[in-house]
Amino acid sequence: VPASMGVSKEALTNLYPITATKIYMNLGQPDMISRYVDLPFDGIGLMRIEFIVSEWIKYHPLYLIKTGQQSLFVDKLSQGIAMVASAIRPRPVVVRFSDFKTNEYRRLRGGEEFEVEERNPMLGWRGVSRYISAQYEEAFRLELRAVLKVRDEMGLQNVWVMYPFVRTRWELQKAMEIMEEEGLRRTPDFKVWIMAEVPSVVMLAEEFAQIVDGFSIGSNDLAQLTLGVDRDSELLANMGYYDERDEALKRAIKRLIRAAHKHGKTVSICGQAPSVYPELTEFLVREGIDSVSVNPDTVIQTRRLVASVEQKIVLDKLRSR
Ligand code: PEP
Ligand code: MG
Repeated sequence: VPASMGVSKEALTNLYPITATKIYMNLGQPDMISRYVDLPFDGIGLMRIEFIVSEWIKYHPLYLIKTGQQSLFVDKLSQGIAMVASAIRPRPVVVRFSDFKTNEYRRLRGGEEFEVEERNPMLGWRGVSRYISAQYEEAFRLELRAVLKVRDEMGLQNVWVMYPFVRTRWELQKAMEIMEEEGLRRTPDFKVWIMAEVPSVVMLAEEFAQIVDGFSIGSNDLAQLTLGVDRDSELLANMGYYDERDEALKRAIKRLIRAAHKHGKTVSICGQAPSVYPELTEFLVREGIDSVSVNPDTVIQTRRLVASVEQKIVLDKLRSR
């Protein structure tokens, strides 16, 4: 990290181009923020909380509730979120609610009792369908309380939230009602995003846009479900089926951006794709995406690439006048 070479933060910032498209960073381990804090990112576009749950908390939330230890969950989760939010404020942190699959939940301590065995966990009880279910709702409330604690008690208002694996509007509305019951209301400084991972969200983007502040494309799951390819299948990947640059996916992304912008809502992307394929980043910028969220090791190159694409777009426009 150049900061350790005695270069001032101001001088560093000038090294990197300013872009109209925001460059966000994906993060899992909260303590890694100290290593990356000086990178030129505009916020955390995806904070996965699964790491905090599996490494810091270790227990299944329903087991903790059953044994009267739910405050342990709220405390550790809020601690992890606060570590990141305080290090980078006033830049935002988009905290994504948990998106373990049943087979992953089973591996948490005390988890087996609360999880069914599913044949297709990838298409099963995950994301919002968990939060609104009679079995899991109380655990979802713990996640909400952790966010509320960070925002209200710790005063870190740069924390936003994101719902993963949204399938329908009715389930999202239900989950948002639970969120309101816990005292978290959408305001201009508390944004609520949803991930666009299931094609139904893209197809009904206009309708979803009316109830959220923004979308973030989960290109890993959106590729899996648009192309009908198990994202964990090495066999299909080796045959070239799993490709986030597929035209079908590009069409879906194009459609989502148009629909969201029509309603004044933002679109981001937080799947692996732009960290791996610069040509896809170029496509996204040309289509008018508002932000791209990439892995820490590609933040700098993404910022430079996005700046050069934006410059090309301006020059092309001037030339065509
Ligand atoms: C995605 O699906 O692109 C995503 C970012 O979520 P995850 O990889 O955690 O499923
Ligand atoms: Mg996903």
